[in-house]
Amino acid sequence: MYRRPAPDLLISRGHVLDVATGEHIRRDVGVRDGRVVPAAALRDPRIVDASERTVLFGLWDCHAHPGSLMHDPTGDGYFEGTPARTLRALANMSDALQAGVVGMRILGETDEIDIAIARATASGHLIGPRVLPSGLALHTTGGHGHAYPRDYLRMMYFDKVDGPDAIRRSIRSHVEHGAQWIKVCLTGGLFSEHEAVDDAQLDAEELEVLMRTAAARNIPVAAHCGSPRVAERFAQLGGRSIEHGYALDEAAAASMAANGTWLVPTISVSHDEEMMRADGWPAHAIARAKDAARAHGEALRACVAAGVRIAIGADLNPISVRLHRELELLEAAGMSRLAVLHAATAGGRMLNGVGSSTAPTEGDSADLIVVDGNPLDRMAVLREPSAVIVHGRIATAGIA
Ligand SMILES: [Zn+2]
Repeated sequence: MYRRPAPDLLISRGHVLDVATGEHIRRDVGVRDGRVVPAAALRDPRIVDASERTVLFGLWDCHAHPGSLMHDPTGDGYFEGTPARTLRALANMSDALQAGVVGMRILGETDEIDIAIARATASGHLIGPRVLPSGLALHTTGGHGHAYPRDYLRMMYFDKVDGPDAIRRSIRSHVEHGAQWIKVCLTGGLFSEHEAVDDAQLDAEELEVLMRTAAARNIPVAAHCGSPRVAERFAQLGGRSIEHGYALDEAAAASMAANGTWLVPTISVSHDEEMMRADGWPAHAIARAKDAARAHGEALRACVAAGVRIAIGADLNPISVRLHRELELLEAAGMSRLAVLHAATAGGRMLNGVGSSTAPTEGDSADLIVVDGNPLDRMAVLREPSAVIVHGRIATAGIA
């Protein structure tokens, strides 16, 4: 480790928010060696004055593509290579960190950029969010992701898998290379003209082999999935999270709830028309998104009603802006503010196996934010945290 050890921290006089109960209780929080500890255990701590402020777990983007240009209408991405994409990912992640994002599950990134960054931030070489990488997303020939306006000339963006042998080989290779999630595209999406959000792109045998191989290697699977019937089957086979869930219905939600399958709704991709226009989405994609929006909102509400666990993903870039917008749109779509805060913070930790607490508690990994006011009163206070602490280290100049 190149960095000096982090000093102990005493986050003093803040109100600690429990995102399950909404309790907002004044108490000091100690941090040592990356973990929350009692204040009495600290040695010569650096003081973070949190008077009149709220202390809570930081935000998680559970569906990130930090190096992606998304729709790239100018075609800039055509000729770039891995170094340029890596730098853009790092800049995006550093900006997100300043906006309170302490954790990311990266679901599809090129050339193992995500795996390298995950190792660098976990080891302390680099200050950045805690990262759970998935390497290349899996899809079939002609599957979701193919109809972007261009394919990269030099970089692979997906692992194309057709048939059980290719699927087994891909999952085992991901494990060997250090992926911590498998991302697979099970159905179509909004952007491509040749597919629908609820078509099935793997056959039954391929899906079963995928889930069996991942289970044998103990790696969780996240599925881009819009179809209710495919989601139902994925949940029955032990799938850990459904991404987007455009057309989920009550039966799919019931299956997800019964099998402990999470939903990461990414509601912005069908609801944020301002973003689509600003990002240069083609007209057919905007039309499809608007068509999908009503069902997407209903799918979210069906999952909330069924008790499906929810975590939050931006999917879009820049993460700092899009993730905060996602929180607002989820509230507007029918989640309570407390449920949104839970999904955005503790939900990300739980989905990624980081911890099950809903307020910073002794022994928890110290990935925390300090904000000016109570986000239950005004969610916008999350946008500019006074302090961000990740891996137990202060990542912002802030108030310390
Ligand atoms: Zn995505």
